Parts: sequence; C-alpha cells; structure tokens
Amino acid sequence: MLRVALIAFIAAFIAAPIRAAQPAANRLLIRGNIVTPDGVFSGAWLDIRDGRIVHIEREKPDLPGVPALETSDLVFPGFIDLHNHPAFNIFPRWTPPRKFPNRYAWRDWDVYRARIETPARAIQTAENFCDIDEYVEVKGLIGGTTSMIGFSGRDPATPQPDCIKGLIRNLDAYTGFYGPDQGHERIVNSIGILPRDMDADSAARIAQGIAAGGIDLLAIHIAEGLPEDAESAQELDMLEARGLLTAHTALIHSVGLSPSQLARVHRAGASIVWSPRSNFELYGATANVAAAFREGVTISLAPDWSPSGSDNMLDEIKYAWGVSRNRLDGLFSARQLVEMASSVPARVARIDDKVGTLAPGMLADFFLVHPQTKTAAAGPYGSIADGTVTDIDLVVISGIPTYGTPDFLRTLGVKTEPLTVCGAHRALNADALPDGPYAQVEARLQAKMKAAGTELAPLAECVP
Ligand SMILES: [Zn+2]
Repeated sequence: MLRVALIAFIAAFIAAPIRAAQPAANRLLIRGNIVTPDGVFSGAWLDIRDGRIVHIEREKPDLPGVPALETSDLVFPGFIDLHNHPAFNIFPRWTPPRKFPNRYAWRDWDVYRARIETPARAIQTAENFCDIDEYVEVKGLIGGTTSMIGFSGRDPATPQPDCIKGLIRNLDAYTGFYGPDQGHERIVNSIGILPRDMDADSAARIAQGIAAGGIDLLAIHIAEGLPEDAESAQELDMLEARGLLTAHTALIHSVGLSPSQLARVHRAGASIVWSPRSNFELYGATANVAAAFREGVTISLAPDWSPSGSDNMLDEIKYAWGVSRNRLDGLFSARQLVEMASSVPARVARIDDKVGTLAPGMLADFFLVHPQTKTAAAGPYGSIADGTVTDIDLVVISGIPTYGTPDFLRTLGVKTEPLTVCGAHRALNADALPDGPYAQVEARLQAKMKAAGTELAPLAECVP
C-alpha cells in the first residue's frame, strides 16, 4: 500500500493534463472487479476525476448527478503496445508461401512489394493520414490498447496533423503526457541499426539524447532474422558500437539473438519486445524467450503489425499463451503475459508513473472485460488469455469513455456512433473521433484500397 500511496503522491505532481483534443467528462464512477498489482478489488468503485483515478473504494461514493456505471466486469489497465506499424494495419492478412532468413528478404521481395509496399505508397499519403490514423486506432482500441507506438506518415514530419492526438495515445508522436503540443515526446521508434535503416549522424543524435536525459526509450528492430543469418547477427554489435545498447533501449524482435547475446542485453539493462505470431509467420521461429527469461531480460509483448501478426494486443496475448503452453512448457502464466502487455512496457517506456497499472493518482486508461466462466488459465488473467474482442465491454482513455457497448456508453453520458465488431453491438464515442464519423472514414478507405488493387483489412478477424 505504501507503494500505491507513493505513486499517487508522485503522480499528483506530474503535469499530465487531459488530452488536448478531447474534453474529458469531469467525473465518472465505474464499478467492477479491479485488477491491480496487489490483487483484485472485487466490486469496487473507480472514482475518476479530470482524467485520473482519484480513489478506488468499496462503498459507492455519494456523488449525486455524477454518471455511474455498475458492472460485474473485470477492469484491467489498458494495453501498451511497444511494437507496431499501425499505418500498415489497413492491409489484409498476408500469409507468405515461404519463410525468410530476415526482414530484408521479404521487404525486397517482388511478391511483398506488389501485395503491400506498392499499394501502401499509393494510400499512405498526407491526404489519407487522418483516415488511416482513425481506422487503425479503432482497430487497436477494440482489443484494449490505450497506448501504441509507430504511427507516422511516409513523411515523418513534426508536427503531424492534429488527428494524431486522437483516440489512443501515440507514444512517439503525441501522448498528452507533456502538454497540449506535439514535439515533447520522449520515445523514439526506429526500423533498424544497419546503415540502410539509420545513418551514423542519426544514431549519434539519439545516443546524445539518451545520455542527456531527453530520450527515455529507443525502441529499435534488432536481429529480426534467424540466428544463422549473417545480417541479423551483426546488428547487436552495431547497436553497441553506436552507443545505443543502453538501459533506455528496447530491442524489437531479437529473433536471432543467442543466449550469450541475450545475457549482454541484460547486462546493459536493455529489454526486448516479443512478437511471436509475426515471427513464426515470417521466419518460422521466434526469439529465444526461454533464454531471455533465464538471463533476466525484461520482455514486453506486442503484435508487430496485423498483416503477419495479431490484429490487436488481446489476440497477441492469446497467441503467446498458446506458444507458452505448446512450445515452452508453460513458461509464462496468463498473468505474466498480461503484464508483459501493460505494466512491463510502461516501466520500459518510463511511463509507469502515469499508465500501465490501476491505482489512485494514475491516469484513467483501462478497459472492462466480461469474465470468462470456463477458462483454461487460472484467475482473472484467464479472461484475457481466453477472451476475444467481443468480451471487451468498455475502453476508457484519460477518463474518456472511448469505445464500448452502447448501453455502457449511454450510461456514462456519451454521444455514440454504432459499430459492429464480430457480430456484437458496440459503439464509439462520437465526440472523441479525431477524423469525423467512423463509418465515413471506413467507406473512404475501402474505396481507396480498392482503387489501389487491394482491400481494407477487417477491424478484427473474428473467431467463428
Ligand atoms: Zn516491426
């Protein structure tokens, strides 16, 4: 409890105003079974004011006129997605007919170019930036994501259009943590360390930024290829030579890293981001997370992108849960996997004083999920590992009810736009949409994807 009190104390002094783009309802009350690091507070009330959790209490606060939602759902902190390429999540699933030694092999392959890269160049224009942003943020949101990384246009100009302030926090573009303007984020996302991906000057600038305390995290693709692949093998050395293997570095993928290299990652205080589904689809292998775990390396979990990875964080947890049970002798519990998608990436990104757990003083970023009755995993975390998108009943970001069942959103006084998710009735907060009505965004993108010779990916691939 001391820890919770301390976090509340610290958080009260950190300037983290409500997201500039969206006025928050001043106060909300939500009852559920609240999942915290100290255990589940059953039947407790979250008292939310100005975008923050101010109290968690058993008795319903006596606040006449304040919207109050009484549920028997589980309440989890929103997922923090530390590895994605959201602008590509408009593309349908790509199941390549072969496996590759590394990412350069498929990025340079004609079949990939025709299927994704060429239409992407036609679609990912400045004109379509906000439509794509809204679509892929909704796609993450329905799976419980409240913070994500990697959304950008082809021209990575700063500032980006203001729609980037949209629904979900964009960790490397605009989170709302540091005031109403862009340009103050402390996280850098990078495609790789080899000269074709990052020049020496950029590497030096990032190293200086880390040393000077202006960059909290560099998330960078490293060793996205098989252990025997020569190109992947040199990336860790290159990262270290550039002064970028630090306690402020998260190595994305790390498929090719050996146990001794993972020990080096641990000694540097760096962490890895695991994306098992996309790794198995593209390379037929994934990071040696058993060795990473043994060496004490911190591991976050994230989907990579939806063409070869999961549609959202919930689905990636489910996939990782299967990998853990079927290939890793039950290495990770459902609880560990959920934490690898919430509190762990929050710590890695140095935002754990703001999001990633539920406690008084934290920002109100969370979701409600329907409890599973017959789950293979024990306890509340099994409802995530065995859940699907239609089990998510509400997502709140900065105290703003953003997505959920029409009933829940109406109870919380939200103006809604209806949405069907895998046959279930859901709705979006119509006032929170960064680029206008969702149905129009979807229709525009469908037409443009068709004109580019492809089709718009579904929001979710539904389990029959
Ligand atoms: Zn990636």
